[in-house]
Amino acid sequence: MGHVPGKMAMTRNLQNKQVESLRAAMRARQVQLREEIRQALIKSDSEHYLQIADSVRDLEDESFADLIVDVGLAEIDRDLDELRAIDAALLRMADGSYGICAVCERPIDVNRLKLTPHALRCIDCQTVYERTHFQKTGHTL
Ligand SMILES: [Zn+2]
Repeated sequence: MGHVPGKMAMTRNLQNKQVESLRAAMRARQVQLREEIRQALIKSDSEHYLQIADSVRDLEDESFADLIVDVGLAEIDRDLDELRAIDAALLRMADGSYGICAVCERPIDVNRLKLTPHALRCIDCQTVYERTHFQKTGHTL
């Protein structure tokens, strides 16, 4: 088995060791988030949520976010968003696009990834995105 030339471009700004430690950080965060969500479901004191909390304990990573999709609890939504972002980042690691800005396709700064391993955009594009995003959802004065 020789080299696969198509894979050469992958995650080129990161060393394997860095990718591995970022992956480990995201895995740990996933576990933490899932536990937070489970606790929030239990606290909600609703029969329906309690059932979900019970069943999510044994779920695979992939189905977890899907199951909770219609819960609609504000405090869970944020955790779910982060969980989905981490899921997506782990997928990008698998397909080799991890660490590359989704907008400008330049490498994302390693220090940014250390702070936010699931970052989808470089800091410049993120700033632009947030400005646009908040304008859209903002007030209609
Ligand atoms: Zn960018």
